[in-house]
Amino acid sequence: MERYARQLVLPEIGEEGQSKIIEGSVAVFGLGALGSTISEALARTGVGKLRLVDRDFVEVSNLNHQILYSEKDIGMPKAEAAVDRIKKINSDVETEGEVVDINPNNIEKLIEDVDMVLDGTDNMEVRYIINDACVKYEVPWIYTAVLGTYGMSLNLIPEKTPCLRCIIPEKPSAGEMETCETAGVLSTLPRIMANIAATEAIKFLTGISMRKELLTVDIWNSDFELTDVERREGCRTCADRDFEFLQSEGAMTTELCGRGAVQINPGEKVELDLTTLEERFESSELKGENLIKVYLEDYTLNIFKDGRGIIEGTEDSKKAKSLYSRYIGN
Ligand SMILES: [Zn+2]
Repeated sequence: MERYARQLVLPEIGEEGQSKIIEGSVAVFGLGALGSTISEALARTGVGKLRLVDRDFVEVSNLNHQILYSEKDIGMPKAEAAVDRIKKINSDVETEGEVVDINPNNIEKLIEDVDMVLDGTDNMEVRYIINDACVKYEVPWIYTAVLGTYGMSLNLIPEKTPCLRCIIPEKPSAGEMETCETAGVLSTLPRIMANIAATEAIKFLTGISMRKELLTVDIWNSDFELTDVERREGCRTCADRDFEFLQSEGAMTTELCGRGAVQINPGEKVELDLTTLEERFESSELKGENLIKVYLEDYTLNIFKDGRGIIEGTEDSKKAKSLYSRYIGN
């Protein structure tokens, strides 16, 4: 308990609250700028169990805003690098990393046996999948979004508060919204929004009710605004309990915006033997337990144990698919 001395003297937490935090379990989805800070904050606060989920690997351009990673992690799956770092910060935290793309087939397993989910994904498609699953299984989650100098945070508790679809009924179509690539993000913003979400999570774990309003932040002008939100009558997800996004197949290919890369989903459950794969290629490199990089002349194939591929060097889905089937199979 010595580690948490400064929290123990807080009337908001105290010994009883700290014990509840230690018993708590949280899944963090997405380990970029938001997810890194959320995970670190929760680990330092003493949350007993963290499930850290991310589909990607660390790139040099991540190092200026994603606080869990350092140069030695470049090329490693983020979930693995994050677990390593969190264990060094607080070895009492039970930490598990999941190197997967969150989709309708694995979401139920990912939210199983956690008290709540914190969103660091920065991806609307995935958020609707999270929303459906969290409403269906009554798991509270916290939505956080950042863009430019603006941030947004909303606590979503099934049956008690609106769900994401009460607020944004239809998923914005591709190109309709600005992305972090087109609008940029001020580097101070994700940390602030992540710490706001982590604070709400700590309140929830200690049994104190979370903020009900939608928080919008204009960090450039230090403007914080709270807006009342209500459950929407006829909401497809929380009123009709029609979980559309859990039934969707999920895309076979996803262009990774601003990365010059395409992600390929195998479309079936596979577990690749990466060591065998390594022997097959002249120039390849294992990166941790879940990823192999295969270097071709013009492309790099990042092949994950779960069969996913991130093909660097093209934004053309067809090209990426054909490289995947030529070198990996299928
Ligand atoms: Zn709803």
